[in-house]
Amino acid sequence: MTTEGHICFAISSIILIKKIKLINFITSGDWWHVILGSLITCLLPDIDHPKSFIGKRFKWLSIPIYKLFGHRSFTHSLLLIIIIIIYVNIRKINISVDVIYAMIIGYISHIIADILTPAGIPLFWPYSKKFSIPIIKKSNVRLERLISIIIIIYAIQY
Ligand SMILES: [Zn+2]
Repeated sequence: MTTEGHICFAISSIILIKKIKLINFITSGDWWHVILGSLITCLLPDIDHPKSFIGKRFKWLSIPIYKLFGHRSFTHSLLLIIIIIIYVNIRKINISVDVIYAMIIGYISHIIADILTPAGIPLFWPYSKKFSIPIIKKSNVRLERLISIIIIIYAIQY
């Protein structure tokens, strides 16, 4: 999925979650907090690739992660999401709770978006089987936008 696709998918996902009242902290959260929170992390899983949008900006981090785990591995796993959620709940982080949950949703939106590509992701890493629901063919920005618009329309109608 493209960088733009991930951004569109994160925004539409957070709008949907807020509108359907799925998570209290998001539902009661400030719109700017939740949208910006999701945007901060929606590209983060691709820190495992030095040529990704975020990987290019943080090469000092992306190169070692890429060499250790490869692309679409640890950073695209349920295990890391669980670690993040546990960490956030144990540690007192001086960030508004709606922003924290939006950041988690932004991260998860990336994982879900990558599942929609033919390459898929190893959701249960270190178990290597890749999960994929190949709706979006490689770099199909139009389809990525269309899916995001459909999600937003659904969220508004809800
Ligand atoms: Zn990715």
